[in-house]
Amino acid sequence: MKQGITKLAISNDISQFLYNIYNKLYEFWGPQHWWPAETKFEMVIGAILAQNISWNSAEKAICNLKRANILSVEKILQTSDEKLAELIKPAGYYNQKTKRLKEFCNFLKREFNSDLEKLFALDISSLRQVLLSQKGIGFETADSIILYGAEKPIFVVDSYTKRLFYRLGLIKSEKISYNDLQAIIMTNLIPQTQLYNEFHALIVKHCKEICRSKKSICNKCCLMLICNYFNKK
Ligand code: SF4
Repeated sequence: MKQGITKLAISNDISQFLYNIYNKLYEFWGPQHWWPAETKFEMVIGAILAQNISWNSAEKAICNLKRANILSVEKILQTSDEKLAELIKPAGYYNQKTKRLKEFCNFLKREFNSDLEKLFALDISSLRQVLLSQKGIGFETADSIILYGAEKPIFVVDSYTKRLFYRLGLIKSEKISYNDLQAIIMTNLIPQTQLYNEFHALIVKHCKEICRSKKSICNKCCLMLICNYFNKK
């Protein structure tokens, strides 16, 4: 048996199961229009700022950077640490994130002449490796940048994805590793950027609104008929 997959899921067609979830979520919520950024650079900065906090808080920090007109590699590097930390304060961990933003901008300047498109021209595997080699960029941030910034097909996994697929009965535990769950999903879906973009956004939406960590609203859920957790209640 493939590691991490339940008997229930493996006895069904996993691919069909995943497309079924996607279709139901899409029908229920409609398109989510991710990632909400005006430029690719803004998207990348947003992904770094959004680590460990809500998107609303990251958005406030981005608005501050825009208002101060420093949303570029050069301007971020020219801004003092104190000023940058003050501007991104709403995103939390602001001293650490100031360091990360500067390190990322320095890396982009040094290795890719400040040109994000040159970085994004790498193939998925090299791009992922390069991003993960940056301090403070983990799997979720790297894959978000690849999917929503570089617009290349890699599935972003997060705690919402683990919760939803555990409750639906696809995986045995929410403690499954990032890469194992990503492999299960990507083995069973066609590698299509728009599909991965929308699917991840729909999972986040559904888990924030309906399949919540505590007090999920199962009686309003479009997935209840195929949900292990609901049907065992
Ligand atoms: S039925 Fe309940 S547990 Fe299952 S996916 Fe929906 S909200 Fe989550």
